[in-house]
Amino acid sequence: MSDELAGLRIRDLRVVFDGFPAVDGVSLDVRPGDIRFLIGPNGAGKTTLVDAVTGLVKATGSVCFGEQELLGRPVHRIARLGVGRTFQTATVFEELTVLQNLDIAAGAGRGALTLLRRRRGVPESVARALETIGLTGQRDRLAGTLAHGQKQWLEIGMLLVQDVQLLLLDEPVAGMSQDERDATGELLGVVARDRTVVVIEHDMDFLRRYARTVTVMHVGKVLSEGTVAEVQADPKVQEVYLGH
Ligand code: ADP
Repeated sequence: MSDELAGLRIRDLRVVFDGFPAVDGVSLDVRPGDIRFLIGPNGAGKTTLVDAVTGLVKATGSVCFGEQELLGRPVHRIARLGVGRTFQTATVFEELTVLQNLDIAAGAGRGALTLLRRRRGVPESVARALETIGLTGQRDRLAGTLAHGQKQWLEIGMLLVQDVQLLLLDEPVAGMSQDERDATGELLGVVARDRTVVVIEHDMDFLRRYARTVTVMHVGKVLSEGTVAEVQADPKVQEVYLGH
């Protein structure tokens, strides 16, 4: 973990849909190198918060990544500042190979000319990403034929080759086998060595094993924050989850 890495600083974030505050004055800090899990009941505002950070919905307040204010910038500018996300359903190009998917993602950040120039070899950044996501041996397979977990890892790889420094992952282990969950947890640890990671997740077993810190959201607000143990011991959290 290094101080030179950028962290996420959110202040008084609000997103209102037709008068309804889906995110209602959220402030939170994610330290550089953290793996922050974002949990809360359905409708708590987790996805909307991530949408606001990545520029998909209009919001007020402040969202800084490092020194950069993200609010008010268009989606592609936020992406260029090193912020990337995955969705619950992996969005890979199914009819292209793993390598082609990564190559296109790498090229997207640097222009078509670079993409054309590098036709011959596998660029270092792509080779490194393949290694990190454990798909080196699958590089020539069509992405559409990958297992569910492998598609999720490919999507993460596509962020890595774009030099994304803040990764926001939406339920990355949903639908995965236990082995795939374990591999994904390991992958998060590697990714967070020199990046900041925020994970929306419902899987409590996965959270207990791999979260470094947790933010619990409820009705658009932060209900509780801390380590897994701190959050689990918080009576407010027990009330929301267990109803007592
Ligand atoms: P979570 O991800 O925690 O399940 P969401 O962020 O998806 O919660 O939703 C928070 C609230 O905002 C919910 O009440 C949801 O119905 C509402 N909401 C989300 N997106 C929209 C939208 N595009 N238009 C209107 N309401 C929305």
